[in-house]
Formats: sequence, C-alpha cells, structure tokens
Amino acid sequence: TSRPVIEGPCSAEAAPVAAERPMRVQVEDIHKRFGEFEVLKGVSLSAREGDVVSLIGASGSGKSTLLRCINLLEIPNQGSISVDGERIRLSTDRIGEPRVADAKQLTRIRSRLGMVFQGFNLWPHRTVLENLIEAPIQVLKESRVEAVERAEALLERVGLAAKRDEYPSFLSGGQQQRVAIARALAVEPKVMLFDEPTSALDPELVGEVLRVIRSLAEEGRTMILVTHEMAFARDVSSHVAFLHQGRIEEEGHPDEVFLKPGSERCRQFVNAHR
Ligand code: ADP
Ligand code: MG
Repeated sequence: TSRPVIEGPCSAEAAPVAAERPMRVQVEDIHKRFGEFEVLKGVSLSAREGDVVSLIGASGSGKSTLLRCINLLEIPNQGSISVDGERIRLSTDRIGEPRVADAKQLTRIRSRLGMVFQGFNLWPHRTVLENLIEAPIQVLKESRVEAVERAEALLERVGLAAKRDEYPSFLSGGQQQRVAIARALAVEPKVMLFDEPTSALDPELVGEVLRVIRSLAEEGRTMILVTHEMAFARDVSSHVAFLHQGRIEEEGHPDEVFLKPGSERCRQFVNAHR
C-alpha cells in the first residue's frame, strides 16, 4: 500500500493534529445563573476520546451543575457546549430563560451521553432487565431481542447476570449502582458522566462500584467524573479539574494537581481529602 507523500516543512507539524483523538465534549466559557446567583462563572473543559476527566472541589463549587449542563439537564445562560463535534444550539424563551433551540437535537445529544447519579435512580417497579432495555427500545428504537441481548452482556460485565429478574429494592446499594452503570451503557454512549457515584454507598460497597468504573476507564471509555474519592481520581484520571466557586481554579495531569498544585486552595482541599 502506498500513502501520498506530503512534502514541505508543514508536514511534520500537521501529523500530530491529524492523529489527535476525536473531541467528545467541549465546553467553552459557560455561565449558569439560578436567579441572581451565578453558579458557573465561565468554565471551559474538554474531553477527547479515551480521556477520563475528574472534577473535584468543595460542596457547592458547581461540579454537579457543570455536569448537568453537559447533558443539558441545566441549560447554560452563556457559552457553548459541543458533544461529539455537534454544537448545541441554544436560545432563550419569552421570559429570557435559556433553552435548547431544537428538541430533536436535545434527544440526539442525550443519547450520546450516559449519566450515573449519586442516588441510583432505577425504576423501582421494573426488574433489572427491564431497567436496562427501556432506553434502547424507546430512544434507539431497537428490537426487544437486540436490547435484551445487550442488557444481558452488560449485566455479565458488571457481575450481576444472576440478578436480571430482580426488582431494584432487593439489591444492595452497590449492586443498584452497578445496574445504573449498565443501564447508562445500554444506549452505547460516547461519553459516560458520573456524579459522585459512590457517595451514597456504605463504605464496604464503594469498592465494587469503583472497580466497574475503573474497568471502563481501562477499556478506553471517555468519562467525566465528579468524585470525592481522591485516590481513585488520581489513579484513573487523565485530567483533573479543581472547581472553586464556579471557576476552574486548577487543572492538569493528576500528578500535578494532587502533588504540586499552584493554587493554595487546591492544595488545602486535596490535603484535607486524603
Ligand atoms: P457541587 O455539585 O459542587 O456541590 P452544585 O453544582 O450542586 O455544587 O451547586 C452549586 C451551587 O449552585 C450551590 O450553591 C447550589 O445551592 C446552587 N444550585 C444548584 N442547583 C440549583 C438550582 N436548581 N437552583 C438554585 N440553586 C442551585
Ligand atoms: Mg454535586
């Protein structure tokens, strides 16, 4: 096989750009206000294919709001968000509240993102399997057979194949959260978003959930994760951002942020959460 030869001085510089992994999430200078209160004051963040980005920071610093803006559970007042290279078109309604201009785009974008919350949010009156096949059938218009097949594979993957016909309340918190992860994966999202996925769990159940998340990181899944598990964040992340009062105050490689942060506040936060 022969490749076209690119000559001239620009070819060396052009190569790394061409090899860059695709951009999955790009947030640029977003602002989010609730009434008079500005919760996000100009935040930019991006994740390329395979990146694991952790968001850390004190309670109230805006981590959840940032994550919720990415999947459009909250609509920013200013700034832009692109998912999988598609920029979300925003507008304002009659009373000046921000909204997504195109409902079809909203559905499309949401289906590219898998979200796992602190509380497990499974549908209590549906079995584990039914929880997993709902979105693929309703949103992706898959056949039941296909959806069941994938659901079973995912349950296997999170170690819960035997629980397929149980109702959520019969599972431990750790098992419920693993089901929630499998459910989020069932739409084959491009990016997984986690908001403190282990903070509602009894300590002895945290490990089983972190193991599943770690295995997703190791297989190269793109993830944005809010967590208070600092050792875990340091271990799995390719990038860490420390939020303080609605701004990213420090960010970079986990070794930088955890071992030699420039910001005194970040240093204190990290030391207090060891
Ligand atoms: P974190 O996840 O870092 O703890 P949040 O993003 O949940 O922080 O919240 C940031 C700030 O925004 C907090 O002061 C919180 O009270 C406020 N906030 C979050 N959601 C809303 C809302 N829907 N309405 C009003 N204020 C909110
Ligand atoms: Mg939060």
